[in-house]
Amino acid sequence: MKGFTTKVLHTRYSKKDVHGALRPPLYDSVAFEFDNAGQIQQAFEGKLPAHTYSRISNPTVEDFEQKMRVLTDSLGVIAVSSGMAAITNVMLALCSSGSNIVSSRHLFGNTISLFEKTLGDWGLEIRYADMNNPDSIESMIDEHTRALYLESITNPQLEVADISIVSRCAEKSGVPLVLDGTLTTPFLFRSRDYNIAVEIISTTKYISGGATGVGGVIIDNGRFDWKKSPKISPLTRQYGQYAFLAKLRREVFRNCGSCMAPHHAWMNTLGLETLALRIQQSCDNAIEIARFLAEQAKVKAVNYPGLPTSAYHAIASAQFKGCFGGLVTFELEDKEQCFRFIDSLEIIRNATNLNDNKSLIIHPASTIFGEYPVQERQDMGIAENMLRLSVGIEDREDLIMDIQKSLENI
Ligand SMILES: *Cc1c(COP(=O)(O)O)cnc(C)c1O
Repeated sequence: MKGFTTKVLHTRYSKKDVHGALRPPLYDSVAFEFDNAGQIQQAFEGKLPAHTYSRISNPTVEDFEQKMRVLTDSLGVIAVSSGMAAITNVMLALCSSGSNIVSSRHLFGNTISLFEKTLGDWGLEIRYADMNNPDSIESMIDEHTRALYLESITNPQLEVADISIVSRCAEKSGVPLVLDGTLTTPFLFRSRDYNIAVEIISTTKYISGGATGVGGVIIDNGRFDWKKSPKISPLTRQYGQYAFLAKLRREVFRNCGSCMAPHHAWMNTLGLETLALRIQQSCDNAIEIARFLAEQAKVKAVNYPGLPTSAYHAIASAQFKGCFGGLVTFELEDKEQCFRFIDSLEIIRNATNLNDNKSLIIHPASTIFGEYPVQERQDMGIAENMLRLSVGIEDREDLIMDIQKSLENI
């Protein structure tokens, strides 16, 4: 079997370019014309595989989807306008009013807000379990549970569940397991091997290749029998194992209008070509920085799954190919010190993104989690004296020097 980067570079575009262009052109076109009325009718009926309108499908977006499909050995991939759009589409496809989903309290902030507020208003209930405790998970599942949901590495708590255990709980209960694999990407974690039904990824992060555009993907691993999902089951008669993808492509995704822009798909394809190199460099930098931080007297605590002091070190080593991601969190004395530290940095930028090529830092309590009351923030594991550093691909010595100088200034 070919390696990750070889697959990205040599998965061919579905049709040969008329000019033989080695890099497929960007089809920034909304509509596609047909030779006659009969042909466009056939295209609408799904009998002629052709693009009609770019909210539904587009050649450049399809090229990116195909590369993601080959990389993940999955059944199919749908590219969407953002990571949040990916989560929203999946939940709208699987759940109805009165459904519940079981997840962890430690989730990306906007995901919690989506589940509790936006979808909560439409009758979805979110139940929180301890993802490292199968009894806690199983006790939350009932006949209205439509999905089990977790993140491969939680952000910013950097917890790593034993995904095999969660996967077995899902299998036992007949509920699809949905995983947010944004922080790991298919390079570090093969969700298909863990029987994950659906993986969603925010391509905005590592995959975009340097924060070039907001985007997301929905990956159906072909590992779940959709007959067990009440909303998808009726479609299995016509679409078999493709029922979930059909529900999205022919209804939810199409109607929500959350399509990926062709330009972003084109940039994401470019990003995929160097993904492995960039992740490796970012992870190699992150572990060195975590080790450096752990030795500094002014740093109260360092959290990185790559450090033996992390409770998740062993499971992360086993699940993520010996890499531990590009996020490191650490604690200083208080919020004021955190602010002074951020303000003295010269190389590391103060911005709310992660897994960019550039190293970025943020104080989560006052920004991403600022909308939550202090007590709720604490329940989510967001300390007031914690900083989140997303380690980029710069030269390591420069990053360490920047951190060292700023620590002297706080
Ligand atoms: C950023 C992020 C999202 C949301 O992705 P967008 O592309 O910003 O919508 C979801 N999950 C995780 C873990 C993220 O880091």
